[in-house]
Amino acid sequence: MERKASSLLENKKIAILGAGPGGLTLARLLQLKGAEVKVYERDFNQDSRVQGAIVDLHFDSGLKVMQAANLLEAFKANYMKDADRYRLVDKDLNILLDEINEGNQDNFDDEHFRPEIDRGVLRNMIIEGLLPNTVVWDSQFLSMEQVNNTWELKFKNGMTANADIVIGADGYRSKVRSYVTDIKALYSGATIIQGEIENPKIDCPDMYELVNNANLSAMDIGKTIAVQPMGNGGLTFYAASLYAKDWIETSGIDFNNADEVYAYLVGFYADWNPKFFTLFKSCKKFLVRPLNYFPTDQHWEAKENVTLLGDAAHLMPPSGEGVNTAMLDALDLSECLTNGEFSDLKSAVAAYETKMRARASVLGKEAIEGIKDFASPSRDSIEDLVRMFLNRKE
Ligand SMILES: Cc1cc2nc3c(=O)[nH]c(=O)nc-3n(C[C@H](O)[C@H](O)[C@H](O)COP(=O)(O)OP(=O)(O)OC[C@H]3O[C@@H](n4cnc5c(N)ncnc54)[C@H](O)[C@@H]3O)c2cc1C
Repeated sequence: MERKASSLLENKKIAILGAGPGGLTLARLLQLKGAEVKVYERDFNQDSRVQGAIVDLHFDSGLKVMQAANLLEAFKANYMKDADRYRLVDKDLNILLDEINEGNQDNFDDEHFRPEIDRGVLRNMIIEGLLPNTVVWDSQFLSMEQVNNTWELKFKNGMTANADIVIGADGYRSKVRSYVTDIKALYSGATIIQGEIENPKIDCPDMYELVNNANLSAMDIGKTIAVQPMGNGGLTFYAASLYAKDWIETSGIDFNNADEVYAYLVGFYADWNPKFFTLFKSCKKFLVRPLNYFPTDQHWEAKENVTLLGDAAHLMPPSGEGVNTAMLDALDLSECLTNGEFSDLKSAVAAYETKMRARASVLGKEAIEGIKDFASPSRDSIEDLVRMFLNRKE
């Protein structure tokens, strides 16, 4: 690693809040430039399980950033071979699209190759590239105040820390965001009920076989179930549909009670093949998540000592771009802070934020348009999806 920080960051302490893919990538990129960085993460320790299943990195975003961070070889050693293949079925388990039996096409030089990696494995991989003790675990950020040009940060466990520059990479319920803007998230109209299955091979063998270590979507008019493998042999599923904004409160369902959620899902998917119910039955704990987004025309005045990246800056409905975009933010921010083109911190942060918001605006609009087709497909949108995949192969 280079030893001396570029002049804007010389003698500056940087605090990154959140050890997600965005925050960790930024820490790695800044350390390569010699900056003094700590990452404060609310998870109790590195072994705490990361929510969610696999994510795919893209040629011109996530993979490009891995290359810039000198982590591409580590990624190649850790990604889940063949998990990028896609299978689409209908509610009766008729196969509409199938990439599972296609030959091996792994090629990191191909811009269409989107290798998948388990989220926890990705986290560990980036942490291994950091200086020892960069991540401070069990540090749930609560608030901060400015004392003599320095931020004094307060954490839930009573700890405090100081930093000259604070970067909020603390995800969709960011606590840092309110120091940058008061623009609030909006509801997309779609909600997902998410579940994880530890031993699908035993608990729901038919579904395990159908997923076959790849990406499975099951779609019918108005509802979808997506199932993905996890690196530990488990499965994650997302049951998605459109719901009123206050549905979680008005549904009468106790989402902490697995039996109640199971009963709801079996009723909601009553005319689907009962094999899907084995997924719900095998899940011991559900998470219900309204899919929100920040407005795509958001703007704020840059500050010299606090900024945002990833979901904290531009939460959008899932579209396969979130992790990739958070990583691109990290690359852009690290470049603006260290490339020597800016005479002061505020100009560097402003240049980064302009680029970050412009990119997020385009992707966010696409994600908002796409979420209805994912959560509440129509006959036409399912046919369009099949056509799109087939055209891509021609
Ligand atoms: C159902 C679903 C499926 C998705 N699938 C994909 C996909 O396939 N591909 C893709 O690219 N994206 C996907 N996304 C989006 C993706 O998960 C996010 O965009 C991405 O994780 C954002 O990265 P981040 O680093 O900004 O934030 P996060 O990944 O949310 O990380 C934030 C980190 O901050 C920590 N934190 C939070 N609050 C505090 C606090 N107060 N103090 C300290 N630490 C804190 C959290 O514990 C976490 O470690 C999906 C999203 C959802 C909801």
